[in-house]
Amino acid sequence: MAPAEGFTTMASAPYRRSGREIVPAEPVKYPKDAGPFLLVIVDTEEEFDWQSFSRSACNVGSIRQQVRAQQIFDRYGIVPTYAVDYAVAAQEDGYGPLRDFLNSGRCGIGAHLHPWVNPPFEEDVSARNSYPCNLSTNLELRKLTALTEMISRNFGVRPVLYKAGRYGADAETPMALETLHYEIDCSMLPWTDLTPQNGPDFHRCSNDLYWFGEGSRLLEIPLTTGLVGGLKRVGQGLYWWLDSPLARRLRLTGAFARTGLLERIRLSPEGNTLSEAKRVSRILLDHYGQRVFTITYHSPSLEPGHTPYVRSEADLSGFLEWIEGYLEFFFGELGGVGSTPAEVFRLVAAQRQGGGGGSAAGVSGLGAVCVTCSPGELVSPPQPTRAGTAE
Ligand SMILES: [Zn+2]
Repeated sequence: MAPAEGFTTMASAPYRRSGREIVPAEPVKYPKDAGPFLLVIVDTEEEFDWQSFSRSACNVGSIRQQVRAQQIFDRYGIVPTYAVDYAVAAQEDGYGPLRDFLNSGRCGIGAHLHPWVNPPFEEDVSARNSYPCNLSTNLELRKLTALTEMISRNFGVRPVLYKAGRYGADAETPMALETLHYEIDCSMLPWTDLTPQNGPDFHRCSNDLYWFGEGSRLLEIPLTTGLVGGLKRVGQGLYWWLDSPLARRLRLTGAFARTGLLERIRLSPEGNTLSEAKRVSRILLDHYGQRVFTITYHSPSLEPGHTPYVRSEADLSGFLEWIEGYLEFFFGELGGVGSTPAEVFRLVAAQRQGGGGGSAAGVSGLGAVCVTCSPGELVSPPQPTRAGTAE
């Protein structure tokens, strides 16, 4: 990939961050009867071998296939957010098809950091360094700066939504987000401990949205995850143990799921059946009052052969049927509405400030232009924005 040229690879000095998780500063409050809202956030990236990492694996040919899901979103009036990484933002095969969606108001654009294909290239390429939060805070910031500027240059908008590659965010990540004036983070993976793979520990993280960072200006929107089964009341602690290397070796996660004792289900067509997704959504809405639901998947899944979830055309048909089936369920049986991260930001920011544009009705406008990014000024220095002005 051309933009990678000119950067050298050098071993980084040993560096340790705190390893702490992001600390919620303030829970989000909603207007009465708001939602439930559905967001779609796509990890939009190159096709790569999920078992190993390479600076040269930058093919983004699968981006042109995004239209297959986009047509479904268009039909239901959903405006997805494509959180794009550097390989997508830097190459015309990547940004071209998405810019067409953006220019017609059919999507928003966020940032997704895959360190191994995102300059500057100073760290060793390794599984550990594939998590942005394992880099020095300075290198994490400079990589995110390069990504933000590449998105600004080729999309003509400045992203304000961040999703860390491999969910690699920790307590120090907000510093980079604040420096670059991001407003929304989607890097939390509830009830999940990634430390056995050298990633962060989210086992105490729930689905609740919250404000965090300096002045509580950043909004966290976690990936919707449910624990269901007979042991769900103790599931939070139990799943921490089920993520351990020993429990994985003994295949206990599968055993607990098969026996109905405990299952962790994410709102994604990748590895979760439609009936599971419906079941967990119903539980989260009815028993926990969840207001915001987020669907996610990886963009290469829309072309067979790139991810473990879609190996054939038949898999792809099933994948698309999952998306359509879930939208039908959410807007029908659940009585939900489509929204965008920016609209949710505006709603909860206005609610925190005590009104003024925070009505649920204002957010439920399907087909409203989604802005997960700021239009205008391309690579000029970012201007501070007030909370509540996600556009
Ligand atoms: Zn990714």
